[in-house]
Formats: sequence, C-alpha cells, structure tokens
Amino acid sequence: MTTPKPKEELLGEFNECPVCKGTNFLMNKLVKEAIAEGKTTEDTSPCLLLMSAHAVSQKHIPLIGSLIPTGVAITDTCLDCGVVFSRKILRTESVIMSLPQQPGTARGVQGFM
Ligand SMILES: [Zn+2]
Repeated sequence: MTTPKPKEELLGEFNECPVCKGTNFLMNKLVKEAIAEGKTTEDTSPCLLLMSAHAVSQKHIPLIGSLIPTGVAITDTCLDCGVVFSRKILRTESVIMSLPQQPGTARGVQGFM
C-alpha cells in the first residue's frame, strides 16, 4: 500500500506584527544569524511554535493510512512589542499512522513537516 500524498495550501502569511506593525521577529533573527554563522542552512523554518490540530471526531475513527484535514499555524514573536502571532497559516492533511489519542494532538499522526 502506498501512502497518499498530503495536500498543502497556504491560507495566510503575515510579514508584520499585527499590533505594532514591526518587522523584527525573534526566530527570524535567530535563524538569519545561525545561517550567517554556518550553524544551519537556508531551508530552516523560523518558527517559535508550530501549532496543529486535526479535524477528526472521536466517534468517526479514520482508517489507518487515510488523510485527515489538518490546520497549521507557524508562529513567531515580535521583538518590538512581544506579541506572539501567526506568520503562516496552512491547511494540510495528515496521514493516520495509528489511532489518534485525542482530538488536537499530534500523537500517532504524521503530516506537516
Ligand atoms: Zn509588535
């Protein structure tokens, strides 16, 4: 059995702070410095916290190997005002590798990144 390929759609991308309109972000700064120092590569995602949740019910158990809708938010924090906000919002799908433990947890699910 082949694993289905998950779809991925970028729903939103924000390049300025929603509060102060600043463009100075913690992880963006750290990743740029690490690339300049040769400690990481250009493909490193500047992400403070990756949040994801699956649209699946406890009453409707998906089949192992099937795809379930998944929402993802990639966040960073503004160095000018301290607010944590979403830099990217994606709609994707996750492959069920085992039965999910609880809605909204990533345990047993392989998907984005
Ligand atoms: Zn700000």
